[in-house]
Amino acid sequence: MHRDLSRSAHADPERLRILVTGGAGFIGSALVRRLVADNRHHVTTVDCLTYAGNLESLPGVLERANHRFEQANIADADAMRRVFTEVRPDIVYHLAAESHVDRSIDGPHAFIETNVVGTFVLLAEALRHWRGLTGAAHETFRFVHVSTDEVFGSLGEHGFFTETTSYDPSSPYSASKAASDHLVRAWHRTYGLPVLITNCSNNYGPYQFPEKLIPHLTVRALAGDVLPVYGVGANVRDWLFVDDHASALETVATRGRVGETYLISGRSEWRNIDLVHELCRILDDEQPRADGGSYASQIVFVPDRPGHDLRYAIDATKLETELGWRPTHTMANSLRDTVRWYLTHRGWWERILSGAYRAQRLGLQERVA
Ligand code: NAD
Repeated sequence: MHRDLSRSAHADPERLRILVTGGAGFIGSALVRRLVADNRHHVTTVDCLTYAGNLESLPGVLERANHRFEQANIADADAMRRVFTEVRPDIVYHLAAESHVDRSIDGPHAFIETNVVGTFVLLAEALRHWRGLTGAAHETFRFVHVSTDEVFGSLGEHGFFTETTSYDPSSPYSASKAASDHLVRAWHRTYGLPVLITNCSNNYGPYQFPEKLIPHLTVRALAGDVLPVYGVGANVRDWLFVDDHASALETVATRGRVGETYLISGRSEWRNIDLVHELCRILDDEQPRADGGSYASQIVFVPDRPGHDLRYAIDATKLETELGWRPTHTMANSLRDTVRWYLTHRGWWERILSGAYRAQRLGLQERVA
């Protein structure tokens, strides 16, 4: 069953009512900025604004007539029922999540509440909404669940994750995302809810909260702090520019086959230590240190993350061949653009750093909530 919404009998495929959960976060805000640019769509962002949510990541969006912001928790069933009733979405993109592995080691409870219970609540309300739809609106409704390649656990030096790889999560974060994937799939198999699941590799780009590797090290480098690298930096991650992730999600939502999973990747594997050296080289060019030294001299190796997966790498052939999606950015250009963005948007991350978040080391199991 391959339905292209752009050619289907949708009530009005060019004027979609879209609900995005987690739209004030890193990837969600990139998706919302992309979707609202098409004035024909109406986009509602649902976000409860945790430490990671930030309305300053939606510049110019909040004032737009085709966007509405709802501050609400996805685990609040009453709030979600009200939102579904008022918005009557054609497409739901579900990105709201607790997303930081190190935080999940110290405080797994919030990950179960949002990623598992919150996804369950959202599925229940999406199902109620979908069952109340008739005709083309019922036929073309889509629930897109945005997940991670971390659900598959670790690869050795060779091989790739595909859509048929078994789940084998290592961290409380990836286990909670795996649980949510299973719930979404079950809501399709049991109740027929038209879902699609995506599992994407590591993202980078503007508006990423400065606890994640690239902004974290950029900010620390500029402050003259040490640049901590876990273990010996041998872990490999597969990097995708965030706008390419947003375009892949739109492709899957409008052209993907219901019930299917699509893996998303930029086929761009980097050992952490090589990435950190590349970042230092770019910073040396863009913002030379006052003493003329290289930022690379600030690198220190610190004890590895418990349960740290060695390598993630995705084979995105299905998405590329079935739906024709391709990334349009490469690490060669977009890492430098990303660094420049952090250099020219200091206000965005300095306001975050001046608040509760202080870029400290997390995830050593010193306190588990
Ligand atoms: P993020 O932490 O930057 O943003 C998450 C957003 O969700 C925040 O705005 C936060 O306020 C909101 N949120 C959290 N709990 C909520 C709740 N209970 N109710 C409502 N809103 C809530 O995360 P991100 O990096 O943008 O990731 C978005 C999604 O993509 C997540 O589901 C994540 O698992 C997935 N993903 C991320 C990556 C990556 O590299 N960052 C890769 C693959 C998949």
